[in-house]
Amino acid sequence: MKPSYIRVIIDRAIHRELDYAVPETLAERVGIGTRVRVPFRDRSALATVVATLDHSDAKGIRPIEAIIGEGPALSGPLLELARWIGAYYCCPLETVMRSLLPQVIRKAEIGWKKQLFVRPARKIEDEELDKLKKRAPRQAELLEAISKLDSPILASELLRKTSLDNQTLRALSKRGLIELREEAVERDPHGDEQFLETANLELNAEQANALEQVSNAVASPENARPILLHGVTGSGKTEIYLQAIAVALKHGRSAIVLVPEKSITPQTVERFKGRFASTPDTVAVLHSHLSQGERHDEWHKINSGRARIVIGARSAVFAPLKNLGLIIVDEEHETTYKQEEAPRYHARDVAVVRAKIEKCAVVLGSATPSLESYHNAITEKYKLATLTQRVDGQQMPLMRIVDLRQERRKGKIAPILSEKLSQAISDRLEKREQTILFLNRRGFSTSLLCSNCGEARDCPNCSVALTFHRHLARLSCHLCGHTAAVPKKCPACGQDALIYAGFGTEKVEATVTQFFPKAVVRRMDADSMTRKEAYRETLRNFRTGKIDILVGTQMIAKGLHFPNVTLVGIINADLSLHMPDFRAGERTFQLLTQVAGRAGRGERTGEVFVQTYTPFSPSIQFARHHDFAGYFQQELEFRERCDFPPFKHAVLITVRSAHEGRAKLSAETLVRRLKENLGAEFTLGDAMPAPLQKLQGQFRFHILLRGGAIMRLSRLVRETLDKLPFPEDVAVAVDVDPYQLL
Ligand code: ADP
Ligand code: ZN
Repeated sequence: MKPSYIRVIIDRAIHRELDYAVPETLAERVGIGTRVRVPFRDRSALATVVATLDHSDAKGIRPIEAIIGEGPALSGPLLELARWIGAYYCCPLETVMRSLLPQVIRKAEIGWKKQLFVRPARKIEDEELDKLKKRAPRQAELLEAISKLDSPILASELLRKTSLDNQTLRALSKRGLIELREEAVERDPHGDEQFLETANLELNAEQANALEQVSNAVASPENARPILLHGVTGSGKTEIYLQAIAVALKHGRSAIVLVPEKSITPQTVERFKGRFASTPDTVAVLHSHLSQGERHDEWHKINSGRARIVIGARSAVFAPLKNLGLIIVDEEHETTYKQEEAPRYHARDVAVVRAKIEKCAVVLGSATPSLESYHNAITEKYKLATLTQRVDGQQMPLMRIVDLRQERRKGKIAPILSEKLSQAISDRLEKREQTILFLNRRGFSTSLLCSNCGEARDCPNCSVALTFHRHLARLSCHLCGHTAAVPKKCPACGQDALIYAGFGTEKVEATVTQFFPKAVVRRMDADSMTRKEAYRETLRNFRTGKIDILVGTQMIAKGLHFPNVTLVGIINADLSLHMPDFRAGERTFQLLTQVAGRAGRGERTGEVFVQTYTPFSPSIQFARHHDFAGYFQQELEFRERCDFPPFKHAVLITVRSAHEGRAKLSAETLVRRLKENLGAEFTLGDAMPAPLQKLQGQFRFHILLRGGAIMRLSRLVRETLDKLPFPEDVAVAVDVDPYQLL
């Protein structure tokens, strides 16, 4: 049926759906999910069709102007998902659309890449060719080459092969002897790589059991629950994903694999492309380094059904696959799945909802599941599949706790390398084994203090100290990027009494180099790895044993396999433990477990040294014994006692402005309104200065809400905000299920 009217959401912040008429000539091509251009106020705007109508009560209805793009950009289920995200995350639908549809598809300004192809226009007789040879020998040479072709050839390729020029080609075309035609070609970021097909590995009993659960869910998703695959590092989870995807394909369905952005390495791509290499287009890869053109092509490859497996980071959860059979979320505990700008969605949770809408199976995999997912598993909302053994039969590494308080008593100030750790390192150097040293803080010194007046050099825009970077010989702010020269004297009191305090990876590297002058030490963090090549090169050199000791931030914490690494040192485990965040303990536990997973993946058992001032904190003690269940149990008790997730939902509202007083006043007014509008079932805190009170020149205030019925809470918050006028320079952000509490 051809629609007479459509309802659209415009790509503008107007929070309303609008009706338009559809001219007879366009009606054929308009449906739900089509992108259109419509008149809006006195201009044009782009919009997405959300409903087709044969009747509309709207006044002053105007016709749409044009259809954008090649067909519907959004399926019915994805639109339903968008509405859920808007309602759950307290966010207008047009904002959700911005994440759901890549910009290159929304705007449709970039199309297919066109390239010139050559083919013979007709059969060429020998006499004709002979004649041409006399008059225009070069044209004849080219024509001869073309007439031998079985299929059209790229003009550029032909000219390269024959060493002839474009002019000659055009002349032939003018004579009507050849045909030149522009045709669309695909930009494939992996187009020039060859992938060798790999076969399924024979699964061990635990893996086989897990795969069976997933296969059952793929076969009959209607009554299947999400599956939490809890498997220690190296237990063969990825192999299960690969085989489960094959099952989905066999059922004629498609699959999405979400991985954290940093895990989309050439090895990961190769593993997936290799397994499905017999059908080369099957796997599409979406990540943030694609050009707009490549993104356009990958998106269409998926939307048209040619690609049936999508590997990608957070936003790949919106990949427009049809007939979805399986969604896998690897490393489901990773906080990078949470988008930190509106729409502030969590891709794992969106994956579970999409699976429900599309009636497909969903698998969440991790060596250290999030408390939320684990809680869902023990309350049987999810099914739990566990892999307790490493595939290679390796023991879990020995974890040794180094009490830095004792080291300090020995007279050292804030030691970077304890005696025990440095002994372990020299032992490895002797045995020609490798070491990883981990510290989640970059730079050389974390602050510059005046020992006379006590002033620290803070960022002028943010309420944090500037970090000293030795290689830059400058101070820099890790939040806003502001940099400053290093003063010779204290700018506050004028004394020559400046001291450097605290340390980051740069200083660890320097210290280790000083301690072990013969060792090859390299550092891997955001400062040293500004080029993608540098990253690959360092990894390669480490893998081939050219580096003895690798110092780094979380960049090296995960997903890397190095058989010769038998020692991991965690320089300071307390960094993540003492953040003002209820997830601090959980993050520390995960971090220790993940980092520990780096040690001893070969024949030798690994050793992990954890340096800490709080050796008896539960996250450290449970991690030391590899006791997941014990850790989850005590952490869940703590969360329940304090009404924190997963027992209650949290909503964090941030009110900010360059003007401190206005931000504060607006936050207080908002709290008063919320008090009036929210029922007693919700807990509402006062407006408080945020832990990070000033960020990029903006003063920030927090309001924390908690409650069980999150959809209702979201709606009430939205209604309250919509009715409250805020001063122009005050911005309000609502974060449902927040992960960033600073
Ligand atoms: P995880 O994803 O849990 O860290 P992987 O799937 O990457 O584990 O497996 C770790 C290593 O073990 C990989 O090199 C993989 O090829 C290998 N592997 C996985 N399953 C098997 C198996 N059943 N038999 C032999 N090797 C396996
Ligand atoms: Zn700053």
